[in-house]
Amino acid sequence: MKILVPVKRVVDAYVKVRVKADNSGVETNNVKMSMNPFCEIAVEAAIRLKEAGKVDDIILVSIGGKQAVETLRTGLAMGADRAIHIEATDLEPLAVAKALHAIATKEEVGLVIMGKQAVDNDHNQTGQMLAALTDWSLATFCSGVDVGDDTVEATREIDGGLQVLSVPLPAVLTVDLRLNEPRYASLPNIMKARKKPIDTVALADLGVDDTPRVRTVRVEEPPARAAGVVVDSVAALVDKLQNEAKVIGQ
Ligand code: AMP
Repeated sequence: MKILVPVKRVVDAYVKVRVKADNSGVETNNVKMSMNPFCEIAVEAAIRLKEAGKVDDIILVSIGGKQAVETLRTGLAMGADRAIHIEATDLEPLAVAKALHAIATKEEVGLVIMGKQAVDNDHNQTGQMLAALTDWSLATFCSGVDVGDDTVEATREIDGGLQVLSVPLPAVLTVDLRLNEPRYASLPNIMKARKKPIDTVALADLGVDDTPRVRTVRVEEPPARAAGVVVDSVAALVDKLQNEAKVIGQ
């Protein structure tokens, strides 16, 4: 079975995000960029399925500017087999899902594993839209994945417990934080990844209508938090909680 893993290049999760001066979005110039953490977890899941003999070919796909190739190389160094770069920037989740649909159909993949959300815009939409476009089964927020011959058993973390679903293949799975801990690429694998193939595809060649349907009105930083104070006794703390913060009763 072939598996498709869409990976997005985003502002590194440990970098403090800055809003652009004109409030049109987030600054990405001269900022460290990395693979979206949830996408790393999806790549790791795909590699483990290959190591378990359940998957033959791991195809990565990234939609983005030229530097998305670096993100693809990272995934190839982790252990994916090949990659597709779709050149396009600032696409909405629906357009991304349409491009992924085109690739998934062309490559005849049996499974798509992807992040539950991209940490740059927190849309949490693309997997759901892809499942609708392909008319495949969907399991979101997976913290466990067990692939059988015709079905996938997916464990989902829900409020107050775990839900286990059995979904028929082909399927789209979106992964949550606790599914696995992604591996670091070893130096020999980074060298090997340089020789793995990356195809470039133009968005127009996939027949995707990327007309925007959503307009970002304004992006703002959260309000700065007021500085804390150090109190010198428990009594003073209780007094402040009762009379200033008013979060506990008298
Ligand atoms: P989102 O719906 O934007 O929060 O993204 C959810 C998941 O969709 C991500 O974790 C990726 O797996 C995939 N995805 C979103 N945008 C892209 C992109 N530009 N290129 C590749 N995959 C993407």
